[in-house]
Amino acid sequence: MRNVVIIGSGCAGNTAAIYSARANLKPLVVQGHESGGQLSMTTLVENFPGFPEGIQGPDLVGNMKKQAENFGAEFVHGSLLEADLSRRPFRLNIEEEWVEARTLIVASGASARWIGLPSEQKLIGHGVSSCATCDGFFYRGRKIMVIGGGDSAMEEANFLSRFGSEVTLVHRREQFRASKIMLDRARSNPKIKFLTNTVVHEIHDPAENLVTAVTLHNIATRETWRQDVDGFFVAIGHIPNTSVFRGQIDTDADGYILSKGGAKTNIPGVFHAGDVQDRTYRQAITASGAGCMAAIEAERFLEAEGH
Ligand SMILES: Cc1cc2nc3c(=O)[nH]c(=O)nc-3n(C[C@H](O)[C@H](O)[C@H](O)COP(=O)(O)OP(=O)(O)OC[C@H]3O[C@@H](n4cnc5c(N)ncnc54)[C@H](O)[C@@H]3O)c2cc1C
Repeated sequence: MRNVVIIGSGCAGNTAAIYSARANLKPLVVQGHESGGQLSMTTLVENFPGFPEGIQGPDLVGNMKKQAENFGAEFVHGSLLEADLSRRPFRLNIEEEWVEARTLIVASGASARWIGLPSEQKLIGHGVSSCATCDGFFYRGRKIMVIGGGDSAMEEANFLSRFGSEVTLVHRREQFRASKIMLDRARSNPKIKFLTNTVVHEIHDPAENLVTAVTLHNIATRETWRQDVDGFFVAIGHIPNTSVFRGQIDTDADGYILSKGGAKTNIPGVFHAGDVQDRTYRQAITASGAGCMAAIEAERFLEAEGH
């Protein structure tokens, strides 16, 4: 029987692990398919407080893990495959091994949707990004491309226009899903150029480990061309990792956990932390803060029950 099981080993899960381990609760952290979470995919992180020169993403989450282990947190490989949250203790299928838990912290994140090119995957953190707030600063005076046609693509393009010499927004359709106000704002921004009916065929150049250009294709005119680019931002949405809790933890229509205040979900004893609930900020520091909140709430919940 575990006091606390934490699902996910990103900033939220690892911070929850530090707090609950220091509260002597010996948490079990299920690391998932992506040990270290999204930051394990990136390079330099310049906006996490406490590192004036910045810190490499994998080092930041690696340090958090070490810190948690120093206080007695246990990390296991693999994923949560199934969960029965209908009664307590909760029953969790972790890689076909059933574990019982008095409390559960869900810190399973929200994965960015990518366009799906192998070159894109190779260049994440080397010019390909899914987060303008995180990486825009690296592209001051450079050529930036944003992929997408929704509100978040418009917001990212507007934000990135503060940094780039030019921003090209590429959308595969003629019509945009974005709201009129967001679209109008982007359209009236002199730095943003629109390319509609256009898809990305290739991102160059994985051999150089750097984004240098893209090959674009206009599906209406069938024209194909190469365009120089330094920063390639994909803004086509995120997928919250909540399918394993479907029908048990309340979510919104997109699958983000609905908070019942603080770190509470609709199920007493189940807490949320990080991007799995947060569709607004999606930052390492906010995920860590949420992990801290969830751990404190789990500890108080256990305390109130006399554990
Ligand atoms: C390329 C890139 C660069 C970024 N740069 C910055 C930056 O510079 N600064 C910044 O503040 N933010 C940055 N971010 C955003 C930041 O990484 C996220 O906001 C943060 O990682 C969210 O933390 P999290 O713990 O909530 O989720 P995640 O980091 O997404 O972690 C989720 C964890 O849950 C696990 N998981 C999922 N499903 C299961 C399951 N069924 N069972 C067990 N485990 C599961 C995954 O394996 C993973 O370990 C960047 C993101 C990306 C993609």
